[in-house]
Amino acid sequence: MTASYITGTHIRNHHKCERLTYLNFHGDLSQKLPLTDFRRQLIEQSQQYEASIVSRLPHARPEYQAGDFLSGFHQTLRLMEAGENRIYKPVLLQEPYLGLPDFLERVPGCSGFGNFRYRVAEIKRGLSLKKEYTLPIVFYSYLLSSIQGVWPTTGRVILGDGTEKEFSIAPYRETLTAILQEIAAVQAGKEPLHNIGARCRHCGWRKVCLEEAKERKDLSLLFNLREPVRQVLLAQGITTFTDLAKADLQRLRIPKEYADVVHRLQLQAQVWEQQQVVLLRRPSLPQAPVELFLDMEEDAESRCNYLFGVLIRRGEEEEYRPFLARRPVKTELRRLWKDFLRFIAPLDRFVIYHFDQHERVQLEHFATEYGIDTPLYRRLVRSLVDLYPIIISSVVLPLHSYSIKVIADYLGFRWSDTAASGAQAMYWYTQWLATRDERLLEAILQYNREDCMATRVVKDWLATL
Ligand code: SF4
Repeated sequence: MTASYITGTHIRNHHKCERLTYLNFHGDLSQKLPLTDFRRQLIEQSQQYEASIVSRLPHARPEYQAGDFLSGFHQTLRLMEAGENRIYKPVLLQEPYLGLPDFLERVPGCSGFGNFRYRVAEIKRGLSLKKEYTLPIVFYSYLLSSIQGVWPTTGRVILGDGTEKEFSIAPYRETLTAILQEIAAVQAGKEPLHNIGARCRHCGWRKVCLEEAKERKDLSLLFNLREPVRQVLLAQGITTFTDLAKADLQRLRIPKEYADVVHRLQLQAQVWEQQQVVLLRRPSLPQAPVELFLDMEEDAESRCNYLFGVLIRRGEEEEYRPFLARRPVKTELRRLWKDFLRFIAPLDRFVIYHFDQHERVQLEHFATEYGIDTPLYRRLVRSLVDLYPIIISSVVLPLHSYSIKVIADYLGFRWSDTAASGAQAMYWYTQWLATRDERLLEAILQYNREDCMATRVVKDWLATL
């Protein structure tokens, strides 16, 4: 981000999390965690994709010294006045705002330049239009309007599958105005609320935010707290989980539709306050002589699941068995699936524990795509036990997230590589495909084996309740 300007990145970040805007302006940057390998890889892949699209589109480009945006802006103006059809990497400057979109495209319509005008186009690797794409384009369109004297009516996004999506700018203009006002207020020192949630997983400020939120006993630590409910609680003067833990809910004005949610949140607040697990009801788990703990790994590029890792437990004995596609292609995935079925078919009584829906969805997908006979399919589906809904209905935990990582960590399980994650495993797989460095594959298998073990730890803990 360019230090003193408000840019499209600010707009995108602010849409994701207002606290991110605050920390990027006022936080101690030495506390910000570096980009993960996975995020860096995504950025590189986006740049490569952009380059592949740009190479096919004739364009003009402003030439200027890196960082000299004023010169870049004047160059851009010259290209616009000359009526260039497509301008790559234009500079739109209107202090304190700086816009660096991918393209300006000449379109029909009048403007300060004559009987043509420009609109903004961006290249993105995602497969659908999202606000994080459209809002920066609306911001660039706003800057463009002050240059050409008229707002462009549309913006355009070239998506990751090559399709192009056009959208109207007008419906977003008010939102942009509000965002710019909020960013100005945050820049001036207004501190937004904490916002702990799934969005924090890849954020460089996650450690800082989590520590601060715990210190302040922030409401956003309560798992599944939705913004409208938080606003209701704040309006009643409940600003911390300590407040909520002690509150007399009968005396609060809670809309009927939120009553059950707030009741559960209060339980969570009490659990946070006392740091003790509350048992809601004893979990019911099936008994079987063979227990399988299943965890899958996904390829970031093709989105296919290239690894089925299974921890097999027979009594006291445990064995880890990986089913691996050495390339993310159909022939390899079919082989993985057939190997997995050959392993499952002779088992007599077995249960497959997994965490959340992903594994079930993928097994169904593989069955549809690569086939399975009906009796085996029935046995397979009947054997699946998702531990996530069992956890939710059985216990309340003093945790901000009910992911397998956070729960297993709470129960004392430690991954041998603390930097390992699903995203990191995606990165390792991409690198392994490119280099065939077997150490990367070993790292993936180790990580996956430990995910299976974490699932076993959670299951065993539930069985003790
Ligand atoms: S860690 Fe979460 S709350 Fe903190 S800035 Fe990042 S996204 Fe926002």
